[in-house]
Amino acid sequence: MKNSKHNTITLLEKLISIPSISGSEQHIADAVQKYLAAQHLKVKRHLNNLWCIIGNENAKKKVMLCSHLDTVKPSLEWKDPYTPILKDGKLHGLGATDTKSSVAAMIGAALRYAAEQGKHKDDALVLVFTQEEETGGNGMPILYPLLPTCDAAIVGEPTANKVCIAQKGLLIMKLIAKGKAAHASRPMLGENAITMIMEDLERIKKLEQQLQQKKKHPLLGTITITPTIITGGRAKNIIPENAEVTLDVRTIPGMHEEIISLVTAACKNEVNIISKRILPRETPKDHELLTAAAQATGTTQNTFIGSTGTSDWAFMECPCIKLGPGEPELAHVMNEYVTLDRVIEVEEMYYQIALSLK
Ligand SMILES: [Zn+2]
Repeated sequence: MKNSKHNTITLLEKLISIPSISGSEQHIADAVQKYLAAQHLKVKRHLNNLWCIIGNENAKKKVMLCSHLDTVKPSLEWKDPYTPILKDGKLHGLGATDTKSSVAAMIGAALRYAAEQGKHKDDALVLVFTQEEETGGNGMPILYPLLPTCDAAIVGEPTANKVCIAQKGLLIMKLIAKGKAAHASRPMLGENAITMIMEDLERIKKLEQQLQQKKKHPLLGTITITPTIITGGRAKNIIPENAEVTLDVRTIPGMHEEIISLVTAACKNEVNIISKRILPRETPKDHELLTAAAQATGTTQNTFIGSTGTSDWAFMECPCIKLGPGEPELAHVMNEYVTLDRVIEVEEMYYQIALSLK
């Protein structure tokens, strides 16, 4: 046990020292593949996504441990994000929180599981590490169909070791107003696309308020519809004939498709769907995964949380929880760190959950 703790922290330090900004994961994928192969695991690879099946490949019961290898770009003021620094039991470095600590702890748990291969005649652990979770489409969306079907999965993301059982979905929509140009001294001769789009934004605000009163998820709260980009107009003295607004819509289970029709019906201008593939997710309270998670974390279901941020879970069909040692509020923040005690603690949780789902 003592050895395994030591190995996990050493591995985490090594992972932090390998830059793996989203879209450039080759080196870290090479290193993790080599590390797992040296532990006699059969590693499969597609692009920079890795997975291995530990135990009986044909077992009926399979549990997945999955996390991502990439990080966001470090902020410019962060002088050396790739040198892990230990201070007061906290390890600082890019990806320490989001989410190389989950990767290291999952490897630690999987190696303990692999060490008892003889015990796993009827079950298997599927260890999965993805690329491009933060930005691109070459990770879980294309990998999931290649993976064995699993009965349950743990997604390693920063939750401060709390069990997260629901996450919001994301829709990106665009409003496009087409007006008519005219000289700004005679506005009555034109149709102002900026005014048109502002009227739609008012309608959307009202719709959002109605939804927030009527549709509330116990863990995820309400749907939010947020304008994030606006463009329009081409000269200071011309009535603008074009205007566009991008909307970031965070959805809750059961309302992902419905919100598309509600926004479209509320708006007078054209509404385009830019992306709708990031679905909201929730694992039913009576699922055995949640019982196992409560047991392994020594908590009860009332301490389970939901999360407004999305993850690879959006692309996975099986029941999942998110669980990881990082601090959610430190993800994508300069000087992110992880508390080492939490890393050791979560490794045990991953291991216990995987064992109890036989
Ligand atoms: Zn993450």
